[in-house]
Amino acid sequence: MNVFDSDRMEDLMTAIGYETSETPEGADMVIINTCHIREKASEKLFSDLGRLRPFKDEKKEQGSQMIVAVAGCVAQAEGEEIFRRSNVVDIIVGPESYQTLPDLVGKVLRDKKKQINLEFTPNNKFDVLPESKAGTGASAFVTVQEGCDKFCTFCVVPYTRGAEYSRESHKIYEDALKLVERGVKEIYFLGQNVNAYHGLNEKGEVQDLAKLVRKIAEIPQVERIRYTTSHPRDMTPDLIQAHKEVSKLMPFLHLPIQSGSNNILKAMNRKHTRQDYFKVIEDLRKSSPDIGLSSDFIVGFPGETDQDFEDTLDLVRKVGFTQCYSFKYSPRPGTPAADAKIQVPESIKDERLKILQTLLSQQQTEFNQKFEGIVMPVMFEREAPKNKTANKQLWGKSPWLQSVIVNISNDEDAEKYFGQITNVKILKARPSSLVGELHN
Ligand code: SAM
Ligand code: SF4
Repeated sequence: MNVFDSDRMEDLMTAIGYETSETPEGADMVIINTCHIREKASEKLFSDLGRLRPFKDEKKEQGSQMIVAVAGCVAQAEGEEIFRRSNVVDIIVGPESYQTLPDLVGKVLRDKKKQINLEFTPNNKFDVLPESKAGTGASAFVTVQEGCDKFCTFCVVPYTRGAEYSRESHKIYEDALKLVERGVKEIYFLGQNVNAYHGLNEKGEVQDLAKLVRKIAEIPQVERIRYTTSHPRDMTPDLIQAHKEVSKLMPFLHLPIQSGSNNILKAMNRKHTRQDYFKVIEDLRKSSPDIGLSSDFIVGFPGETDQDFEDTLDLVRKVGFTQCYSFKYSPRPGTPAADAKIQVPESIKDERLKILQTLLSQQQTEFNQKFEGIVMPVMFEREAPKNKTANKQLWGKSPWLQSVIVNISNDEDAEKYFGQITNVKILKARPSSLVGELHN
């Protein structure tokens, strides 16, 4: 979602004459889009601001100005405090108000005053954002839902992104039509709780995510549909059925559970149990037997015992995931869990994270190995970074969201493959990617 927001900020600034720069040196403006989800992500902001200081000073010496804007969830959470901690900053703008950036820049230049806007105006945001100019890639993110009302006790999202709301379905359809005109073949729906989507159509009727998926699948040029991030509580029977009936819906789902222990799930206010999760997985696998599953896990949540952690490992073994994200619990100021008395020591969090990640990476390798010798359709998006043998390589995505790398001859034009879905025979599975050859 931050990648999506950064692209939209780029659209806003290019619309008023700015161009993107590869480096902050000499730039007229720098926007730092921030994440507040864990402490490390937030702290990065202040070291980045420190690094901007010499560039800003240099610009001033040249009689010019570098405007520095801090956007995103750290801006929302820290507000004016950012001005106090760093005098490099000219603008603070929240994730639901960045559509006002051009206006704020105008005010900084005209009034020579720092600007802050942390309003929650999500609907208005999508109405005023300019049409995206970003790239002509094969895959495009489309935000369908933002915000969250679930208030998991560890999470800042409901405070930084505000209440849950869904965009109107016909506007999303129009976005998709414009994207396919530009060559996009994969529509990737985005939302903090994307499967809680409940937008209105042009007749004022509520549409859920399953209906939206079916509607977008009617567009002939759309070849792949994905959605993220889902909540186990919002996996409706119709959405599960869509995985069977809509062939364009990719056989992959990111469905975070966070912990395998019912005690911890309760303390997290997730409002689902491990049994509920197993049932959803069972139904999904009945509907789409080859579906690949991914999840998020937090280890060391306050009060997590050895047995709770064992329950997480047990759940991972029972489900079998294809790729996952796992984190040490990071206390976030203002969230209920941060005040819990029994915090887990860092050394135990480290130990548990290592054990969990070893198991998850074993599962990912085993999943990838199943594809050796198999031919699969891969959507190529770009060239892979040059490897040691200096071969030209294409980078693409499998239906299960694995990275697939294919060698082509150095004389070949890589670009002709971009945006194409091409059959690839998988030769070798690596822990986090597949290596293959074009199979015509
Ligand atoms: N809405 C999604 C859900 O409910 O699963 C998750 C969105 S959150 C932006 C992404 C992930 O960050 C979460 O699934 C969780 O694993 C992790 N996360 C959130 N708060 C955290 C915290 N305080 N410490 C560690 N990880 C955290
Ligand atoms: Fe955060 Fe997701 Fe829980 Fe909402 S549902 S509070 S975004 S973890």
